[in-house]
Amino acid sequence: MLITAGRVLTGTAGGWIADGAVLIRGGTIIAAGRRAEVESQAQPGEAQMAFPHSTVLPGLIDAHIHLCFDGGTDPVATLRDRDDDALLGDMTSRAEQLLSTGVTTARDLGDGSGLALQLADAIAHGSAVGPRLICAGRPLTTKGGHCWFLGGEVDGKDEIRDLIQRNIAAGAKVIKVMATGGGLTKGGPASWETQFTPEELAFVVQEAHQAGLPVAAHAHGADGIAAAVAAGVDTIEHCTWMTRDGFEVREEVLAQIIDKGIFVSRTVSPQWPMLPKIFGPERAEALVAMARQVTESGVSQIAGTDAGVGRAGFDGLASSLGFHRHLGLPNSRIIEMATVDAARALGLGEVTGRIAPGYSADLLIVDGDPLLDLDALKEVRAVFASGLRHEPNAAAE
Ligand SMILES: [Zn+2]
Repeated sequence: MLITAGRVLTGTAGGWIADGAVLIRGGTIIAAGRRAEVESQAQPGEAQMAFPHSTVLPGLIDAHIHLCFDGGTDPVATLRDRDDDALLGDMTSRAEQLLSTGVTTARDLGDGSGLALQLADAIAHGSAVGPRLICAGRPLTTKGGHCWFLGGEVDGKDEIRDLIQRNIAAGAKVIKVMATGGGLTKGGPASWETQFTPEELAFVVQEAHQAGLPVAAHAHGADGIAAAVAAGVDTIEHCTWMTRDGFEVREEVLAQIIDKGIFVSRTVSPQWPMLPKIFGPERAEALVAMARQVTESGVSQIAGTDAGVGRAGFDGLASSLGFHRHLGLPNSRIIEMATVDAARALGLGEVTGRIAPGYSADLLIVDGDPLLDLDALKEVRAVFASGLRHEPNAAAE
């Protein structure tokens, strides 16, 4: 299949090609570049699709979602009331919604039922439609700690090892640990409060790494972030530097994050324009200032929505990305946070996130030019996941 377009963003150092083309075969990208050059590699009678007014870019990656939650006002209550059959149906349509909006890879960071793992398998085998899913299974938490209701409470090293092993046996490709409390868990530790001892966090990392899996640490609190970084986790989720009274970005911890090659997985709700209404203008301003300070430090950041949690729907990654413009980032960098950089952070740097020969044919085709206007990412024309076309909107021009 030969796909031609007005513009191809390759995902390599902000590179783009005018009047470009991508040749895909059997789920893999064979060639990408200027149209004339790629056309010459097509076979006689090769199927073609032309998008002269559109941009082809790598399929987007949402590094932080929860398929088990409904994105409503009380996702915990809704989850409690669903049986497994109904829940799997919900999760299947959420996965399809992600794909329709151009997300071809997503990381599910916490699910109590094991259904996200099942769905990941079904998608990989073509019996369900959705993005490639990297799943954590049950997130490790302390007794009564953040998201305890997902069944991942552990106390002491034996229980930590046991749950990590059970997650791996169920197909987990990443281990999620709750290093601090979180707003979703009523009656649990506050978001800024630390969970687990430094020794326990180090043990989580040791056990996961020994099995070849990365660790994603949920950490809102400044102390919890410092502890997770010291333990050597691979991604810091949220990374909001909360304290009892506000935010406190610690430069020495940021330096360690850079030294250790840890990624900051900055989740931004698609509803971020509501921040001043939800938190009050002062706290919202402090939050943006915190995020700007982190960005200016030069840490590697990746994009995510926390889809499923508190009003964050499964069609919102493009909206969420708009937040990063307030941090002084150019659109090319913001797109990299959701493509090439996210792929590296998820251990998929050789698989997806770029348009280059040998990569999976995960493509998003949008009208307009997202380098000039990020909102063009919402104008989806076509989505290809592993070479298969998913049609959310119109046919080819
Ligand atoms: Zn989350």
